[in-house]
Amino acid sequence: MLVEVAVAAAVRGTFTYRVPSSLAAEVALGQRVAVPFGRSRRATGYVVGFPAAPPEGFELRDVVEVLDRFPPFTPKLVELLRWAEEYYLVPPGELLRAALPPGLNARRGAPAPTRRGVEYAAPAADAAASLGALGRAAAQRAILEYLLARGRIPVEELRAAFPRGRPALSALAKRGLVTLETETPVATAGVLPASAAAPAALTAAQAAALAEIDAAAGTFQAFLLHGVTGSGKTEVYLQAIARARAAGRGALVLVPEIALTPQLSGRFRARFGDDVALLHSGLSDAERHAEWLRLRRGEARICVGVRSAIFAPVQDLAVLVVDEEHDGSFKQEDGPAYHARDLAVVRAKREDAVLILGSATPSLETLENARRGRYRKLDLPARIDDRPMPDVELVDLSKLRRAGVTGLPGLLSPRLCAALEDTLAAGQQAIVFLNRRGYETLVVCEVCGAEARCPDCSVSLTHHARRGVLMCHYCGRTEPMSARCAACGGVRFGVGVGTEQVEEAVRSLLPRARVARLDRDVVSSADDTAAVLARFARRDADVLVGTQMVTKGHDFPGVTLVGVVLADTALALPDFRAAERTFQLLTQVAGRAGRGAEAGRVIVQTFNPATPAVALAATHDYAAFAEGELERRRAFGYPPYGRMMAARVEGTEDGARRTAEALARAARPALAGEVAMLGPAPAAIERIRGKSRWHLLFRAPSPPSLFRVHAALARVAQRPPGGAAIRFDMDPYSM
Ligand code: ADP
Ligand code: ZN
Repeated sequence: MLVEVAVAAAVRGTFTYRVPSSLAAEVALGQRVAVPFGRSRRATGYVVGFPAAPPEGFELRDVVEVLDRFPPFTPKLVELLRWAEEYYLVPPGELLRAALPPGLNARRGAPAPTRRGVEYAAPAADAAASLGALGRAAAQRAILEYLLARGRIPVEELRAAFPRGRPALSALAKRGLVTLETETPVATAGVLPASAAAPAALTAAQAAALAEIDAAAGTFQAFLLHGVTGSGKTEVYLQAIARARAAGRGALVLVPEIALTPQLSGRFRARFGDDVALLHSGLSDAERHAEWLRLRRGEARICVGVRSAIFAPVQDLAVLVVDEEHDGSFKQEDGPAYHARDLAVVRAKREDAVLILGSATPSLETLENARRGRYRKLDLPARIDDRPMPDVELVDLSKLRRAGVTGLPGLLSPRLCAALEDTLAAGQQAIVFLNRRGYETLVVCEVCGAEARCPDCSVSLTHHARRGVLMCHYCGRTEPMSARCAACGGVRFGVGVGTEQVEEAVRSLLPRARVARLDRDVVSSADDTAAVLARFARRDADVLVGTQMVTKGHDFPGVTLVGVVLADTALALPDFRAAERTFQLLTQVAGRAGRGAEAGRVIVQTFNPATPAVALAATHDYAAFAEGELERRRAFGYPPYGRMMAARVEGTEDGARRTAEALARAARPALAGEVAMLGPAPAAIERIRGKSRWHLLFRAPSPPSLFRVHAALARVAQRPPGGAAIRFDMDPYSM
């Protein structure tokens, strides 16, 4: 027997190995095997196929060992991962490796699953002798041979090799050549707190959405659930999943960040108890491994997880939800790059599952897919109980400056200060958001003008006053803050406000207020984060100051005021999605206000009050924003009207530049008039950790021409000048 193996190494292509007869019964699709590779005697690989004939001109080597008693991937997941590796230009095996929980990657053997209702097929004891008697029943013969080589395997796995083999399998069972057994369900202890456990009586809009989703059950259909913040999207997910669960089927819910939204996972746990497995980076490796195994064994049928959970081994997937589908965290940037939301579409299609993409601010890609009829659009236009959307007021910071109002502590305008005072006096809560941490974002010498910069990265250092350090937010390097310039001894001053300074300003404005802060400086773990959020939810804090960690889907009914210190932080980024992100962020954070009985108020401070991303977020006008932004994208050929690919180069100053230029030379003949090449150019941040960074961006009407360009670059990529490293990024997010 031969197997096609993806070796987890940075090489292109898969390799064929021979399976010694002693291992033949153990080998199955998706399994990890040890194989000799190059000069190494043992490399880990993944069985991705069973070729009929060996490739010509190669000496075949033997599989050394089978590492799992049961394949960690289902055949469908193997297909998905293989597809993703090809599409995202990732060497075969890299995503397979990345998709496994860390615990499993290190240890030998995924224990055999004891899933409920899993059907197994096994050859009867004397079946081999009857092979000849099958005569012209070719399908039965092939299946029996397959089983004889492997022994007892789940029928699901057989289905991958013989998609239409069910009648033949039944015939074999009838002849007594194959036994079929269904393993009994594992009892699940579902302890449900009564309050959150009960499904709500749906509003008319929710019921209409659920009815459409229900009608699609059992087939692939993608839905865009467009609902304003607080419109009850989560309740729709919960009830759609309840239906799947009642039918004994599985569900997968992807969320941007579980640690930041303990309430959300809590709602799933409350409704479905132990049937929910959580997968996120706040868990230890062992915990993650345990949760993953519960899914693989079918003991938990519902997975709530972050980005990488798109590869979770949910059995018999019926419903796939991507909550906040527009969120950038679904895009994996480091290591093998992929987009979990886009893969969700592929996975749902392959597993005939219903896909629900939920958002208050759908990404323009998703919106365009809905417009073209690929996704069905479901709308929840109003908040639950017809609570009003919060009032958004803009504070024009440049106008204040022209009026001579400068040097505001924490950049809090008089209007925002007054609103904070009123809120506190009324016994209500406020959130103050600024997407920059630290005290001052830049420290400058008033004599010579020298800025404190990181020697290894091309960025300025941020002053963290409480710790008394200057810190690089890219490489983490810190140095003691000194009040004097190292070059000339002049006095230094700080500019650019961060959350630490905002917190200080709020404290001095409201001496009696209990102020909490949430950013990466004050919390370092998921537990810390949950503790801060719980404190605010219990109303043991009046004001919560923080970075975008405070903008996520929190539901704090006591919050009636949201202050955005500076709306413009993301606007200036060299990224065609900068406006879209700003609109999403403002809508998201504004959505935290007025979720309880009292109406909400939002104050947005900005230097760009007229820019559509700010002005239209203030009027809650998603449609108008999307319209204008789509037009701009169309004019420039940006997604969703074109596709992009990035080639990122990192190396020495000279090596990176030469490699980028070599890539450009190699690409030019492949552009064929329909691919635009932007660059080669130094990346927005030219140097990180002492390495120079260059990039090239390619823009084309559709992926095939980008794949052509990629192929043309392969020769350079194999041997980049000066030892630079090259990474390709399909559908890139950061530019
Ligand atoms: P979204 O996910 O759209 O932000 P949620 O599902 O969190 O909205 O709903 C907002 C609030 O309304 C939550 O507290 C939720 O429990 C409540 N809720 C949702 N649907 C209903 C309903 N049909 N009846 C009563 N309350 C509901
Ligand atoms: Zn640095």
